[in-house]
Amino acid sequence: MTFYDACLLGRVSPVGTSMDTDSSRGTTLPHVVFQYRVFQRSYRQGRKKRALIDDRKNNMKAKSALIIGEHIPQFLDTSPFFCSFETVQRWYSVFLNSIMKSLTVTAVFLFCISVPVFSQTISFTREDTLRGSITPERAWWDLLYYHLKVHVRPDAKYIQGSVAVRYKVLKPYQQMQLDLQPPLAIDSVTQDGIRLSFTKDGANAHMITLGKKQVKGETGSVVVYYSGNPVEAKNPPWDGGFQWTKDDNGNDYVATSCQGLGASAWWPCKDHMYDEPDSMLISVTVPEKLMDVSNGRLRKITSNGDGTRTFDWFVSNPINNYGVNVNIADYVHFADTMKGEGGILTLDFYVLPYNLDKARVQFQQAKLMLHAFEHWFGPYPFYEDGYKLVEVPYLGMEHQSSVTYGNGYQNGYRGNDLSGTGWGLKWDFIIIHESGHEWFANNITYKDMADMWVHEGFTNYSENLYTEYYFGKEAGADYVIGTRGKIQNNRPVVGVYNVNHAGSGDMYPKGGNMLHTIRQIVNDDAKWRKILRDMNKTFYHQTVDGAQIEAFLSKNAGRNLQKVFDQYLRDVRVPKLEYNLLRGKLSFRWTNCVEGFDMPIKIAIQGKGTRFIYPEPSWKSLKIKADSIEIDRNFYVEVSKTTL
Ligand SMILES: [Zn+2]
Repeated sequence: MTFYDACLLGRVSPVGTSMDTDSSRGTTLPHVVFQYRVFQRSYRQGRKKRALIDDRKNNMKAKSALIIGEHIPQFLDTSPFFCSFETVQRWYSVFLNSIMKSLTVTAVFLFCISVPVFSQTISFTREDTLRGSITPERAWWDLLYYHLKVHVRPDAKYIQGSVAVRYKVLKPYQQMQLDLQPPLAIDSVTQDGIRLSFTKDGANAHMITLGKKQVKGETGSVVVYYSGNPVEAKNPPWDGGFQWTKDDNGNDYVATSCQGLGASAWWPCKDHMYDEPDSMLISVTVPEKLMDVSNGRLRKITSNGDGTRTFDWFVSNPINNYGVNVNIADYVHFADTMKGEGGILTLDFYVLPYNLDKARVQFQQAKLMLHAFEHWFGPYPFYEDGYKLVEVPYLGMEHQSSVTYGNGYQNGYRGNDLSGTGWGLKWDFIIIHESGHEWFANNITYKDMADMWVHEGFTNYSENLYTEYYFGKEAGADYVIGTRGKIQNNRPVVGVYNVNHAGSGDMYPKGGNMLHTIRQIVNDDAKWRKILRDMNKTFYHQTVDGAQIEAFLSKNAGRNLQKVFDQYLRDVRVPKLEYNLLRGKLSFRWTNCVEGFDMPIKIAIQGKGTRFIYPEPSWKSLKIKADSIEIDRNFYVEVSKTTL
């Protein structure tokens, strides 16, 4: 039963709705509390059910008062065991849409459904909505260009700079949202040399009031001046910010990383993934004995005569916010070129001086990676900006055209094989994985972090294809199947939209295994490779919704894969194939699956080769002349042989 069905059948009971008006700012954002409960047993008796609801209601009171008081949208999530997560999300968005036109609303629902339970809570704040949604103050302008200038002072862990933001007016509006996270502060904002006023909404969002009338189709720019001590990375790259360290020679060694946290942790920007500048200039001033390596190509180095130098890096392609980075160290540089599908590609490597010899050996894998991935995914997407690998004090990150590396010049993931098969020790995880993101993260970029599987699922899958390219198809399959050991099935892979929320870490190995499974369904390697290449062409330098990628794969696979995506991305259950083979009759069905799950699966029939069967949640059967069958291991499913 889906959540929606349960509602229709009256087995879901809203127990209260309350509204609240928020007049703290000129525009409105929906504030929603969407709450429901799942019970372990069926409460069909009216009295019992009412009692239960009353009890819940009492429990809810304090909580809802708190929520209303704080003006925070909340989404108390329960398990997708009883309904598809998508359904809840659809409800959530229907609900959002219905109140978008009205003033800010806080509503509380309590729902009861009589199915097995697994419960967890996710709470979101107004800050999350300001960070994760396309607010009216963001929607009206198209980002064209950034010039980020930043002076980095490692001695004081202090930065000071400005960002010029060029934009095009899509719809006249006078307020512009730019984000900057404390402890950094915006000192002033100007447009055409005139100072503008701004107010803060929450900790990060700054609403700037533009003086001159904004006319549709025209372009404009604002310059934001800022300074302060940026947030320090606690556990980069996962918990990022500025990382201030020293190299073994005692020199400052500084790097940024900010996926999830947001680029506004260290520079003012439109901190939402849906909109990227067409190009960007990054000017970084550092102590003169150090060097900055950022994205794109080094245009010039200026000696400022005050003990500092400024490095100007120009990115001539769209770039996502978290892709922008500064890396400051006493770097040494070596270079190479390769002839790829897009012509001559420059390869530049920046490492600490004492690691140069090791890097010259280990970084040869960059070329191997590029050959393999161009084969599978098409041309490297940023020939104009070149490919760089930059040593950093943390593990690594997919910074566009300056992939950062901290894997200790060893194969595997910090020397370990994530697949447990041995294949993961044949190559350097960070070089392969982070560079795979040039296609899936930097070329094709999620609009909303809820769809992060588009980055991590495909990039995890790229590890399998890299292995296959050099070690054969079975090796690749071993690898991806081996990574199933890391799947937890704890939460859906897709997160919650519009609040900067990522789904389960399963997006890596489960995402990879879902794609490997889909490849089996396509059952044509040349066609599958073409799909992957066409995908990088179709969404070239674009930001996308996960739904676009799902639709693209369905269309090009020639089969509606909707239920497959619902199963693996929005549900936590691993579908189970139940079968029975008795006197030449094979009976089979899917269980532990989403409603209408219709994935075909390949079986090997003893002595008769392989064939597809087309199970559904109800039993089907066919006649086969064999005593046993084997289910293709490449499908990520569970199998159970039953007695009917
Ligand atoms: Zn990744």
